Amino acid sequence: MKILVLNAGSSSVKYQLFNMANNEVLASGVIEQIGEKESMAKIKYKKPAGDEQKREEKCSIHDHDAALTWMSEALIQSGVIHNLNDLDAIGHRVVQGGSSFQEPAMVDDYVMSEIERLIPLGPLHNPGHLAGMKVSVHQSPNVPQVAVFDTAFHSTLPNYAYMYAIPYKYYEELRIRRYGFHGTSHYYVTKVAAKYLKQDINTLNAITLHLGNGASVTAIENGQSIDTSMGLTPLEGLIMGTRSGDLDPAILFYLARKRGLTLDELDKMLNKESGLKGICGSNDMREITRMAEEGDERAQLAYDMFNYRLKKYIGSYSAVLGRVDCIVFTGGIGENANDVRLKSCEKLENFGIKIDPILNSVRSSEIRTISADDSKVKVLVIPTNEELEIAIETLEMIQKHHS
Ligand code: ADP
Repeated sequence: MKILVLNAGSSSVKYQLFNMANNEVLASGVIEQIGEKESMAKIKYKKPAGDEQKREEKCSIHDHDAALTWMSEALIQSGVIHNLNDLDAIGHRVVQGGSSFQEPAMVDDYVMSEIERLIPLGPLHNPGHLAGMKVSVHQSPNVPQVAVFDTAFHSTLPNYAYMYAIPYKYYEELRIRRYGFHGTSHYYVTKVAAKYLKQDINTLNAITLHLGNGASVTAIENGQSIDTSMGLTPLEGLIMGTRSGDLDPAILFYLARKRGLTLDELDKMLNKESGLKGICGSNDMREITRMAEEGDERAQLAYDMFNYRLKKYIGSYSAVLGRVDCIVFTGGIGENANDVRLKSCEKLENFGIKIDPILNSVRSSEIRTISADDSKVKVLVIPTNEELEIAIETLEMIQKHHS
């Protein structure tokens, strides 16, 4: 079984081809700067003998059609498929599924029209996903295609956790509520954690911390998401690379009145110019840690703010869950920044959380335990794999569809 996973954005398409017999990645790559003067197209693939090959090309790729054509030709030339009909299915990542999708869906005209209807709730992502999906359906009409939604895992949130305390009519008329994102990653690491701890996922209580450029925390009770830090959009919650996360909404009125900032300017400021970057000029945690070590006060402040916000969420979700079996760190920061893990869990012994500094300092790309033996809550580092999870859910969906 060969499953291709596509993550189409407005100006890029990322792809991975899996052999589902052993979850092996047969090929992967990205096409970037679609529609610009010069685009970049890349593929990495395994030769039958097992050694890895790479190809990178600067070229002109003016739209998603050209991008997927480049990708299919590259996959065929590399020998991992003979033609597109060799694919058993194509799985598409979709960020915003709103209330319409509680699980993956076979792509058809209705599903595409729903993804289009949800564009106002996912303006940065859904248009690119839809563009890629339409081209993919057109180029591979015989291959089953499945949409996998970042929001679906959070569809189990109770109403008191997903509602905002604003006039109810805005929920009724505009569906303003918490949707949550990164669901594919939170779900994947929850499944891996249950397996690793040899515990039935349906009894597992966990706090999962996905810390990358975008960052979110999820409270998981009996294997289901019951609260998550991102909201109507991915702007809420933790401090992120360039996003503010939680803040007093009155700041926006104040800025608009004092500085005459428009809605678009405020939107850009909160999404692209805030977070770690807004405080210290960098959105890269590696650089921030280095700058802080060299005595840069703003970098130190950004770092302290990031960890403090994280600790507040760990505390509040511990209260929400009552019993926590494990905390999972994942994403570029969660998997690699051991000092962030240590700082954000500092002084949480009363919550049953105690990290072992030696275990925490081990550098590895493997799943591992970093909590002390006497820590009531297990603290784990689990590398996420959203593409594999999309491939697994795509496979499950086509098997269900055929049965
Ligand atoms: P994305 O959300 O774009 O997928 P990633 O999950 O790759 O992002 O995470 C990117 C973040 O991970 C960046 O802030 C980067 O600095 C951080 N990161 C990656 N490696 C390390 C490391 N060794 N130490 C600290 N931070 C790291």
